[in-house]
Amino acid sequence: MPVKNRFAELQDEITAWRRDMHENPEILFETHRTSALVAEKLRAFGCDEVATGIGRTGVVGVIKGKTDSKGKVIGLRADMDALPIHEQTGLDYASKTPGAMHACGHDGHTAMLLGAAKYLSETRNFDGTVVVIFQPAEEGGGGGKEMCDDGMMERFGIQEVYGMHNWPGRPVGSFAIRPGAFFAATDQFDITFEGKGGHAAKPHETVDTTVMAAQAILALQTIASRNADPIDQVVVSATSFETSSKAFNVIPQRVQIKGTVRTMSKDMRDLAERRIKDICAGVAATYGGTAEVTYHRGYPVMVNHEEQTEFAAKVAASVSGGCDEAPLVMGGEDFAFMLEERPGAYILVGNGNTAMVHHPEYNFNDEAIPAGCSWWAEIVEQRMPAA
Ligand SMILES: [Zn+2]
Ligand SMILES: [Zn+2]
Repeated sequence: MPVKNRFAELQDEITAWRRDMHENPEILFETHRTSALVAEKLRAFGCDEVATGIGRTGVVGVIKGKTDSKGKVIGLRADMDALPIHEQTGLDYASKTPGAMHACGHDGHTAMLLGAAKYLSETRNFDGTVVVIFQPAEEGGGGGKEMCDDGMMERFGIQEVYGMHNWPGRPVGSFAIRPGAFFAATDQFDITFEGKGGHAAKPHETVDTTVMAAQAILALQTIASRNADPIDQVVVSATSFETSSKAFNVIPQRVQIKGTVRTMSKDMRDLAERRIKDICAGVAATYGGTAEVTYHRGYPVMVNHEEQTEFAAKVAASVSGGCDEAPLVMGGEDFAFMLEERPGAYILVGNGNTAMVHHPEYNFNDEAIPAGCSWWAEIVEQRMPAA
């Protein structure tokens, strides 16, 4: 079964929605225009219920099938937010907002799920209920978590959830997925070394924080090379080094290091946090200073559930003739919060040979629309076959 013919017919219309959103990107929870547009379309499609303001600017639509003999409810989720990047695509529908851009293709995700919602509202060829979920603030804001915290799963009786992300470098409309840990937990650390500042020509009268911080950055690399089991994944990247002095002849009183940790399991996450604290305390003590470590836990590991992943792969194969095994992704994804609350699966759909997501020249590939929409619709029709 290839892509659904209805989506080939709808492709131009869905593309127009996508490009309109691309031209009007909104960041984090500020998706006011996008959320209003989504809600308006869902109402026009004839959704049985449209709820706004869930997780601040999230929107939920409910579509009931022709029958409901088993009380099944499936959630389909798309993200709506853009990134604080200045677009450099030169497209005629490029962002009209300087410094904001749909550089992760969430415009495409939202348009595809709207397309699926339109089709499902028209046909209702399933036995159960579909809940379409449009969330803000995927890019670091935890919008998915806010929607869950707002009681979305309980309020709409969602039993399973599915999500999708476009993926540059994969053939357009092809699919890839993996069971278990898929996207990394994304944490941040903030370390402040405190010593004794002074004249750079009199180092013996100071406690030099730059030496401490430099040693600590090198030692942090031993978490991956010496503490972690080599077959596990962990990234520790120190990305900012700031001293309290701007002068060439002053040893700074204080140095602040910032960075990120990416892990694929709870054990590795705990290990990384513990070792960062131990290493910094140890290095600071060695040189006579102190270290204060703040470790902030961001998105958890996104874990695909076994059974739903197998089903999602089978559906993908029915749409595009096959489904590859996806590699692990060390980036984060806040669909992780929804998968912590309900079983489900997250899949990648090929975006073709484009710039990578988060690049100023990236653009969502509209040719992926028929395959993406078909996957959504088939998830519903195959999981809740018409009675
Ligand atoms: Zn992104
Ligand atoms: Zn994204």
